[in-house]
Amino acid sequence: MKFDTAYCISLDDKLSIYDVRDLNFDETMAFDSAKEQFQCPNDACRAAFAADNQLGTFNAKNVNYIRTPHFKNLPATRHIEGCPYGSSRTLAAGVEGTPDEDDREEHFPSELLLARREYVRKPATPTADVETPGTAAPASTSSPRTPHPAQASTPDKTSVFAHPVECFVSNIDDKELLKRMPLKIGEHTASYASFFKKIEYLLDNKGLIYWGKIKEIKDYTQSFRIDFEQKVWFKQADEAKKKPYSVNVYLSKKLIENYRKRKAFLEEIKHAIESEQELYCFFYGVTPELKQVPSKKHPEQTFRVFSANIENLDHFIIREAPGLATG
Ligand SMILES: [Zn+2]
Repeated sequence: MKFDTAYCISLDDKLSIYDVRDLNFDETMAFDSAKEQFQCPNDACRAAFAADNQLGTFNAKNVNYIRTPHFKNLPATRHIEGCPYGSSRTLAAGVEGTPDEDDREEHFPSELLLARREYVRKPATPTADVETPGTAAPASTSSPRTPHPAQASTPDKTSVFAHPVECFVSNIDDKELLKRMPLKIGEHTASYASFFKKIEYLLDNKGLIYWGKIKEIKDYTQSFRIDFEQKVWFKQADEAKKKPYSVNVYLSKKLIENYRKRKAFLEEIKHAIESEQELYCFFYGVTPELKQVPSKKHPEQTFRVFSANIENLDHFIIREAPGLATG
């Protein structure tokens, strides 16, 4: 069994690896996973050892990761007998990093919460030395930790968009699984297979997670424009047959400037513009619509394109996605 979450001592809460990544890049939060202490999410197991019995992270701080991020056992990590996280498979996969198992996200959130999760940092105890995690004070036995009530009752929900996207991307070769697993966003529930919609089929349904291969990213004064490779075939009322229309989304630079993960986001965009790799864009919250826009070359002329302005950068991702090309 892989770690779905890990207990973070300073936040006194269980976090998914996607929560950890989100916190690492959030410039409004003082959080660095390299300095934080993570432990087994099994309360009984965690209580049985001192605070220095910790877990490590993989891909928690890399903006442009390829392999699925995860928590892992460190060579010295111990689990109590019967701990579901202590099986030999976890140990093997965590320490050795067996590619087949690590590349797959097994914990499918059943709901993407549109409101961001909030964290309350535990007041630092005077004896704990936060700069050197390895020598921190042992876990207190006088104040048994209780899991955060809201989090304990909703272990399979997430507010981090990257989590369901990773589930989809890393399991793309298992279509049956994606058809089986449910995902809820807002009032809408569908399987992962139908919630993730190829951009060329965006006319099928509104309000889904649209994705497609990026053709080009243009850097303008006020915005970035992402052009998708695939086109939407659409028949206008006054036309005899379907014609292909380009699809794009705009990212306002003002929106990025005010984003809590501004630095990481700009790094991601810069990497994407320079990258030779095939990149994919995923977004939720807006559906591109047919618009009449002036031509850049000949401003007196107009053309039609499916376009949308991204409104929430928390629900937008550009990433490599090996496997999607054939999927
Ligand atoms: Zn354990």
